[in-house]
Amino acid sequence: MIIVMRKGAGDKELNPVMEKIKQAGLDVHLSRGKEVIIIGVIGDKTRLDPDELQAMPGVEKIMHVTVPYKRASRDFHPENTRLKIGPLDLGGDQVSVIAGPCAVETREQILEAARGVKASGASALRGGAFKPRSNPYSFQGLGQAGLEYLAEARAETGLPVVTELMSERDLDLVARYADVIQIGARNMQNFILLKEAGKSGKPILLKRGMSATLEEFLLAAEYILAQGNDRLILCERGIRTFEEYTRNTLALSIIPVIKKVSHLPIIADPSHGTGRADLVVPMSRAAVAVGADGLIVEVHPRPEKALVDGPQTLNFSQFEGLMKECRPIAEVLGRKM
Ligand code: PEP
Ligand code: MN
Repeated sequence: MIIVMRKGAGDKELNPVMEKIKQAGLDVHLSRGKEVIIIGVIGDKTRLDPDELQAMPGVEKIMHVTVPYKRASRDFHPENTRLKIGPLDLGGDQVSVIAGPCAVETREQILEAARGVKASGASALRGGAFKPRSNPYSFQGLGQAGLEYLAEARAETGLPVVTELMSERDLDLVARYADVIQIGARNMQNFILLKEAGKSGKPILLKRGMSATLEEFLLAAEYILAQGNDRLILCERGIRTFEEYTRNTLALSIIPVIKKVSHLPIIADPSHGTGRADLVVPMSRAAVAVGADGLIVEVHPRPEKALVDGPQTLNFSQFEGLMKECRPIAEVLGRKM
């Protein structure tokens, strides 16, 4: 249920309404917009009498929210959530690009990658120190050393660092180094991890599970929001379909749908979404065209030597081309890139 307050209503009208909801044992989510104040009610709403609420001073109307994700829904929070971390700016006019290798491999590799992507206009550096690999004998990431190299790359370039957390076991460690904690597709429904990461208060990039529906995706986001952490970025990274010419099927139609039903920023990952370097630039153009708030792209100084995900990784000149081709599309839509 949401309660829309009358224009001009202040704390004098708001507080008694909030009190009434809390007394009934329910949770409130307050959204103070430029125009109106909206109170989102979370919990068993049969404990409240809507007529009684409607009659309270300052109450404009009561509406019922039928979607199960409440804090993630635009009904609860009509304005976009804006997330700014240094040059990374999501949920406003800017289309921000997070770029870097799939995995941190060496100190030199990540420093070189950071300098290269910054030169072309990236707003954040990506790189995994803990890698979720299908094969247990494949390179698993450098762990803490990788995080230290990422921190060094941030200190030199000023780019905030996005890096994956695979287990709550490593939360304190990863939170110490990361500016944004990535929760990967394979962990989108690891509910314990979502709760713990949410509690850390760190900004979180939540990737869509490879077989998750829109509702499951937003309910996963709800786990993080329910911890009082609204510094959250969603990411479409492709889903599993019957098709085999691409690694995954980048489901770009989810972007305008999410923009409609949720206030959270959403970015696209054309690298994992296609698995093919030759498709990364065209799908980036498409993602910007459908209204993505940003991109996350795999870039390596020498993709042919990359330890992880080389076939879908761009070199610096291809990344430069991506930025050049996407920028005018962003501008047509009234955005900056
Ligand atoms: C990654 O970003 O390197 C990654 C493993 O992504 P995903 O979880 O989307 O597969
Ligand atoms: Mn990867």
